[in-house]
Formats: sequence, C-alpha cells, structure tokens
Amino acid sequence: MYWSNYHSHSTFCDGRSTMEEFVRFAIAKGVKKYGFSSHAPLPFNTYWNMKLDDFIEYQNEFHRLKEKYSADIELFIGLELDYINNFFEIGHDLYSTENLDFLIGSIHYMDRLPNGNFYCVDGNFEDFQAGLQLLFNGDIRLAVERYFDICSLMIEKGGFDIVGHLDKITLNASNCKGFSITESWYQNLVSDVIQRIKTKGLILEINTKSLVGKGITYPDVQFFPLIKELQIPIMVNSDCHYPTNVIDGFEQTYKVLKEHGFRTMQQLINGSWQAVEFDENGLIGV
Ligand SMILES: [Zn+2]
Ligand SMILES: [Zn+2]
Repeated sequence: MYWSNYHSHSTFCDGRSTMEEFVRFAIAKGVKKYGFSSHAPLPFNTYWNMKLDDFIEYQNEFHRLKEKYSADIELFIGLELDYINNFFEIGHDLYSTENLDFLIGSIHYMDRLPNGNFYCVDGNFEDFQAGLQLLFNGDIRLAVERYFDICSLMIEKGGFDIVGHLDKITLNASNCKGFSITESWYQNLVSDVIQRIKTKGLILEINTKSLVGKGITYPDVQFFPLIKELQIPIMVNSDCHYPTNVIDGFEQTYKVLKEHGFRTMQQLINGSWQAVEFDENGLIGV
C-alpha cells in the first residue's frame, strides 16, 4: 500500500519548506508518487506565485531530487496554473510547460477590481468581502455564479490534466450572509460544472487541504455521488504548503470515497494516467 500526492507547494512559491524537505516527509509517510505543483509564474507579482526567473531552477532542483531519491519515491514535476479569464489563460506563451509531467488548472482570481488588481477568491476574508462589495454589490450569489462561470470557461478551454480545488470559493463564501452550500441553486451550479468536467475528460482532484481544519474537501462530499455516477476520474491531493501536511486527511478521504463506491484513482504510470485501485489504507500495489 502507498499514498500519492500531485498537488504540493514549496519555497519556489508559497510553500513553507524546500522541495527536498517535502520529499523527505513524503517518504517517511509512505508516499510513493509525489508531484510538485508550484503556483505557476504570472505576468504580475503576487505573494504566492513562483517568479518566472526561478522556473529553470525549479526544474533543475526537481531533476536533482528525482535522481537522488529514486530508490524510495517517484517524483513528478508540474505546475498549478491560474486561469484568469481574458487575461492569463492556460495556453499562454509566457513560458513553455511542455517538459512538465502534469498541469493542474485552478481559479484563484476572478475579474479586475477598480484598482486594476484581480479579485482573489482564495485570500483573506476581509479582502474577499471588500471585492464582493466592489464587483458584485455585496451579492454573494452573483459572485459564486461568476466564479463557476469562469471555472466552466477554464474547463472548456482545457490544456491541463487536473481540475484543482473545484469549489474553493466556498471557504470564504460560507462566511457570507445568505450563502449555503445546501441551496439548490448552488448544487445545480456545481453539478453543471462537474458534468462539463466529465465531457472534457479531465481528472477531478479531491483536495484535502481544509479537511483537518474545517472538515471539508474540495469538492464537497455532497457531490461525490454525482462524480461517481458520471465515472469521472479522480485523485486525492493534499495541496500541502507544510511538509508535515503531505498526507493530511488522506485516510479519512480514501475511506469516504470507498464508501461512496469509488474503486480507483488516477496515477501517472510510465507517462500516462492510469486507474489504480485503493482502499482506506492507500493505493494498492508496490
Ligand atoms: Zn490553489
Ligand atoms: Zn495549491
């Protein structure tokens, strides 16, 4: 039995430790397949994206570690790419991603604020609320609908392997008055996007970053039956920013997925995504 994780950060972006430290912790926790997915460089500076100047070094350090730890763990290199509608889309030409093993597509930014910055849905709640007021007159439903519109556009355009933290906006949205993930308009909205993921043949990650602290996965467990029914390929990722969190929430999530009837998860094997069986103790095999 073993674990895998394809969504992870390091000091090349906003992760709190070096790539090597993450690898050491991953090995100690029984991870056999581990992918790096730093926040990809953007055409503007942020607190959490990798700088374009560091992209070569990121790849060099990956190759050094891949070789050094090859007896204990299989390492992969990817990026978590931002899709910023009409500004920075996944097929951009700022740098080449063709030598990477995999790409995750994620939404962190929505539309431009009056000050020219992009509205970030994944930052602190005060900024989220301020942007909500400026762009949507405080109407959380409009903001959530716009978020999933953008998400749909990203999925439609494709160019990546894995849909990252599908409903992450709920972390902030759930603190807003008048929003609940149990509302039928919301459930229908997310269900439509899940249907689109199916149509495009993308992998949907079950992201455990907020499971220990908040008790939620992205996507939320209420969507597991639909994901199962549509037979969408899945994987479980921790989106770790600290080495101690590389497999946070995995046991519980694997168990819940198993209870919902899932039997396999996607793994990179000899350069292609393949279904591998699992149970609550991890992936089955070497
Ligand atoms: Zn993210
Ligand atoms: Zn991430």
